[in-house]
Amino acid sequence: MMDMKQIRAKAEQFQAAADGKKIKLSIAELLETDERRRELAERSETLRARRNRFSEEIGACLAAGDKAEADRRKEAIRTEKAELATVETELADVNRRYRELMDRVPNLVSADTPYGKSDADNVEIAVVGELPAFDFEPRDHVELGDLHALFDMERGVKVAGTRSYFLTGDGLRLQRAVQQLALDLLEERGFTGMDVPLMVRTKAMRDTGFFPTGQDQAYKIEGQDAWLVGTSEVPLIAYFADEILDVEQPIRVAGISTCFRSEVGSAGRDTRGLYRVHQFAKVEQIVICRGEEAEAERLLQDITRNAEDLLRLLELPYRKVAVCIGDMSQKNYKQYDIETWMPSRGAYGETHSASNVGDFQARRAGLRYRGEDGKLRYCHTLNNTAAAVPRLLIPLLENHQRADGSIYLPPALRPYMGGRECLAAP
Ligand code: AMP
Repeated sequence: MMDMKQIRAKAEQFQAAADGKKIKLSIAELLETDERRRELAERSETLRARRNRFSEEIGACLAAGDKAEADRRKEAIRTEKAELATVETELADVNRRYRELMDRVPNLVSADTPYGKSDADNVEIAVVGELPAFDFEPRDHVELGDLHALFDMERGVKVAGTRSYFLTGDGLRLQRAVQQLALDLLEERGFTGMDVPLMVRTKAMRDTGFFPTGQDQAYKIEGQDAWLVGTSEVPLIAYFADEILDVEQPIRVAGISTCFRSEVGSAGRDTRGLYRVHQFAKVEQIVICRGEEAEAERLLQDITRNAEDLLRLLELPYRKVAVCIGDMSQKNYKQYDIETWMPSRGAYGETHSASNVGDFQARRAGLRYRGEDGKLRYCHTLNNTAAAVPRLLIPLLENHQRADGSIYLPPALRPYMGGRECLAAP
């Protein structure tokens, strides 16, 4: 939960962040609700204390033979009992509303976050690599997949419904190759690889800020307190929940997981091929550090660079954008997206998303460390995609195709592809 003192002090900024992030929330209502719950809690305390005092005094009055005084106390207890019940019922309702409102309070955004309403307003800050110039009619990844028998979308839909697929043969090998390359790169840079639970409790989803605002994106396991994860960020942050951490050196973990997303709200968008599917695999970077803005900013640049280095190793053209407030989720303080060139779209498509979450998740999940002065403080958390597949296979196949139908494999991938320098034309 964000800090109530801060919300009160910066009410206008929090309202602007909620409006900018399109979160329905009235900070004025939150402040009034907070005020009311304090009043009611105080009144309930007073009434309880009086009741206890009167109960004790009744005994004393009776012992002193003053029955009339004892009766007066009993009468006072009876009349105040009804008031106490009313106050406590209202307090429970007000507390519930307070929690609902607090759950929706967004993180503020950094001063350099662009203002805008949607991804169309994100600001390009770097363009890297040459776009391919084909002297033949290029195929899209679906055609290339058919040609090389890399995946089977038709049977995916037959078995599992829309936005489903099977990876086959070299398609599977390529997917695992990209993941392993990403994991090896991160391990070289101090990350510890972790395979994570794919089902988590509601608490983990709330603690990490994916609930309540993103709840419609998640699949629930019926009859259990369990949800399928949309990213390993959830179990990885929750792994450290309610602990006092040693972040003298930032904690760096690389999660590997399948990710499940309902994609509610994306009906009709990106329906061809592997761009937007319900189940994909991701190598994710998670960093937990001290609650110091400059350190978090430096680490955001580091994890962004890791993703860029992977794209360089894959010899893929990309651009980096500063994400505007209207395209940011509740939890993010600052965000860069990396978009890789996808010839069939004639555009860059998002393949990576790097976020500085500030202390938003740390407050919810209780990630703390002891500062130099011995006081406990909240950590800051950051995350970025390292490789999300099969989406990343789209630029890989499409940019590296050759006129004869073969697909060039960059040297960095070859050790994971049996040493081959290309997927040969069938
Ligand atoms: P996110 O965790 O939402 O920031 O997404 C991280 C990355 O996962 C995106 O940049 C995409 O590469 C990939 N991704 C997200 N959603 C999907 C999806 N529905 N299908 C395929 N890939 C996805």
